[in-house]
Amino acid sequence: MQLYKNQTLRVHNSLSGKKEVFEPINAGYVGMYVCGPTVYSNVHLGNCRTFMSFDMIFRYLKHLGYKVRYVRNITDAGHLENDADEGEDKIAKKAKLEKIEPMEVVQRYTVDFHNTLQKFNLLPPSIEPTATGHIIEQIEIIKEILTKGYAYEVNGSVYFDVVKFNEHNEYGKLSGRKLEDMIANTRELTAQDEKRNPQDFALWKKAEPQHIMRWPSPWGDGFPGWHLECTAMSTKYLGEHFDIHGGGMDLKFPHHECEIAQAEASTGKSPVKYWLHANMLTLNGKKMSKSTGNNIYPAEIISGENDILSKAYAPSVVRFFMMQAHYTSILDLSDDALQASEKGYQRLMEAMGSLERLKTADKSDFDVKTWRKNCYDAMNDDFNTPVLIAHLFDAVKHINLIKEAKEKIAKEDKALLQDTMHAFVYDVLGIENQSAGKDDSKVLDGVMELLIELRNRARANKDFDTSDKIRDELNALGVQIKDGKDGTTFSIN
Ligand SMILES: [Zn+2]
Repeated sequence: MQLYKNQTLRVHNSLSGKKEVFEPINAGYVGMYVCGPTVYSNVHLGNCRTFMSFDMIFRYLKHLGYKVRYVRNITDAGHLENDADEGEDKIAKKAKLEKIEPMEVVQRYTVDFHNTLQKFNLLPPSIEPTATGHIIEQIEIIKEILTKGYAYEVNGSVYFDVVKFNEHNEYGKLSGRKLEDMIANTRELTAQDEKRNPQDFALWKKAEPQHIMRWPSPWGDGFPGWHLECTAMSTKYLGEHFDIHGGGMDLKFPHHECEIAQAEASTGKSPVKYWLHANMLTLNGKKMSKSTGNNIYPAEIISGENDILSKAYAPSVVRFFMMQAHYTSILDLSDDALQASEKGYQRLMEAMGSLERLKTADKSDFDVKTWRKNCYDAMNDDFNTPVLIAHLFDAVKHINLIKEAKEKIAKEDKALLQDTMHAFVYDVLGIENQSAGKDDSKVLDGVMELLIELRNRARANKDFDTSDKIRDELNALGVQIKDGKDGTTFSIN
């Protein structure tokens, strides 16, 4: 199925600041790179939102029939505590604190990351490379940038020369900054600084004797700068010029700006055709932050163990909540908002169940073809999931009217409606029907109540044949009936 041939998808390209028609470099194929987590702590809910947004984009591109290679890396070295190339490596610091090996830190939080994303039903990427697995590739790029004259070595460290690069290229074009303004707004370098300009960034850092994570290089033992790994891994798996690069809005500067500079300096090519950025998640109207306590972890939403929540929420409710906002808008999470999403989610799931059982007629009162086109139009408009969801609820309204025999639907239209609802709800939005179990238990309670009443009636009428039969057959099924002071109860083995 190559749906994409009939669809015009537009995406918001951060590089141009405009919505552009999406035309992949190689017809039918899409290469997409998304910056993954630095695995030194449990994954943030805000990061989950970013990865969920790109999961939805990955799913929609696949749904349209593209062959997508989705690369999302794991940062397991090189990410320092601040963006000015100073401070400790985040993973090494945690390892020291907990008296374990850095790779134990990496393992623990990579597992947590995968488990969390799996709960929210994210598809695994096609390739999930690690920074430490690509040290050789990173060293090769540094050599290339040095040869081209856009980097310099000082005391075993190598820095990217932003001022030199800016003479022939445009540093700051992604984030809309001008190098002159940046220079005007920064402090002067001191004599101890190794950099020529404050804007320069590390490609390779010399490892001090106490630094555990270190590799040999032509410049001595050290470790790569954080920005470099993404250039190395995206180039290796997607080529020097690829379709989509995604990440959180906060990575636009300096991380993505540096990625562009590194790639252009080493290959002479612009690395990415479409830059996509997902917006952040706030909590009760404020930025999430561990230090102020305005923070919530994914596991706490699922268990309900956080003071801001009145209850636990199913992962699919959280996912549905996230999909109700456009990926480029700020989304605010609160207990009220989650409760509203839970109601909407249940209504949608109930309608999905009713849809299967709808009786068909010789004609339709619901124009399914137009409605289906509206759904695609919404997604083709820069993956507009809130508008798509509004259309899905339009279908819910019709499903309920047909169920109540107030409207009719023809057989072909019902099939098309089922097809489209399944595709958008389950395949594209990635929502699962997690209320199915709950509904079953309600049904079981009702059936048992009925059986117990029939048995009690039989006993009252001294019809012990019937009452014993009910008890014995239930027993055989593993259901025990117990008569107590407050009436009859049941339990299941
Ligand atoms: Zn990156």
